[in-house]
Amino acid sequence: VVGAGPAGVGAAVALSKAGYKVVVHEAMERPGLKPCGRGIPVVGDLPVRVPGDAVVRRIREAVMYVNGEYLFTLKDIFTGYIVDKTLFLEHALSEAGAEARYKSKFDVRSGRIGGPGGFKPEIGLFAGGHPYYDGEKIMAIQYIIETREYDDSESLEIYFDTGLLGYYYIFPGKPGTVEVGVGGFATPRHLKTLLDKFVKSRENLRDKRILKVEGARIAVGGLSLGYTGGLPRIGEAAGFVMPLTGEGIRPSMISGYTAGKALAEGGDPLKAQGASPIAEAIELQRRVLNAVKRMDPEERAQILKALPPEVHAELSLGRIGYKRFIMELARRPGSLVKLLMALR
Ligand SMILES: Cc1cc2nc3c(=O)[nH]c(=O)nc-3n(C[C@H](O)[C@H](O)[C@H](O)COP(=O)(O)OP(=O)(O)OC[C@H]3O[C@@H](n4cnc5c(N)ncnc54)[C@H](O)[C@@H]3O)c2cc1C
Repeated sequence: VVGAGPAGVGAAVALSKAGYKVVVHEAMERPGLKPCGRGIPVVGDLPVRVPGDAVVRRIREAVMYVNGEYLFTLKDIFTGYIVDKTLFLEHALSEAGAEARYKSKFDVRSGRIGGPGGFKPEIGLFAGGHPYYDGEKIMAIQYIIETREYDDSESLEIYFDTGLLGYYYIFPGKPGTVEVGVGGFATPRHLKTLLDKFVKSRENLRDKRILKVEGARIAVGGLSLGYTGGLPRIGEAAGFVMPLTGEGIRPSMISGYTAGKALAEGGDPLKAQGASPIAEAIELQRRVLNAVKRMDPEERAQILKALPPEVHAELSLGRIGYKRFIMELARRPGSLVKLLMALR
């Protein structure tokens, strides 16, 4: 398996469970090092256990705002964890008994581990993440800020910005820190300016020390199933990210696990991923994203305000299918008619 992010680890777990000896080749020195907010919602479909010592914070609610105005609080429906991603993935690999080789790079041109002179795996999966995704991507940037103010927080704060078509977030981090980020359809430079403005606008954050600035691209264009370096793609490289929220840990891990299981059973890992419920959820979110992209900021704000909290949560988490979503919109005319028409 190439890549020790959530997708590669999900695949390694499935293949190990099926009795295969698995080797994961990871270019970095530890798993899960790429920039990430590290939030995982509990939806009941994560194929790998989150061990207690990898949980940085239990999340019990999400507080939503639209263009600075309070929208609602999703309590009980929007629960989950902020994890130490590296610890979580290391645990999963060792529990599965998979071998991880770090600083081991797969050359996508030659399809060989360790470059042109290296060896060519006969069977495997490619989980190299966003750099290998060929669809639409946005940028996300976050600051790790030093403060004790969020040490007891069990809330995610989400601030939609309908002009940007994106959102700011405040996630409680490891004790003594908070993660404040922004993701959306803008250049990295513009996003950084927006994030600075957002931080300055908050009295409790503006004078605090920024310990780290990090960012990366996020695949939001929907599925792109195919091969890289001769291996079937899984995870974010294959578009397994929720296009409206940018949530990629759970979708990528499910994609990897599904592909690993299919490979172990002699099936087609690409077909299996494409037929998974998470694939359907991603496609629905992408359709909604396409529709709201064509609207102006005011129309987007109206839709966000008109969606009932539980439908909001179900769409964000990928728990609602296309048909039921359309029915929910049809039951509530007004601002949602435009979205309904755009989706049909
Ligand atoms: C700022 C930011 C915040 C985010 N916050 C969240 C969040 O809170 N919750 C959430 O669910 N998602 C979040 N995401 C998205 C999430 O991080 C990714 O979607 C997820 O990590 C994708 O998993 P993956 O395993 O497919 O790829 P990755 O996690 O990118 O893992 C790919 C791995 O492959 C390795 N690799 C790449 N090429 C090679 C090669 N040629 N040879 C060997 N190894 C290679 C890389 O070093 C890397 O470790 C965020 C993203 C960003 C940018």
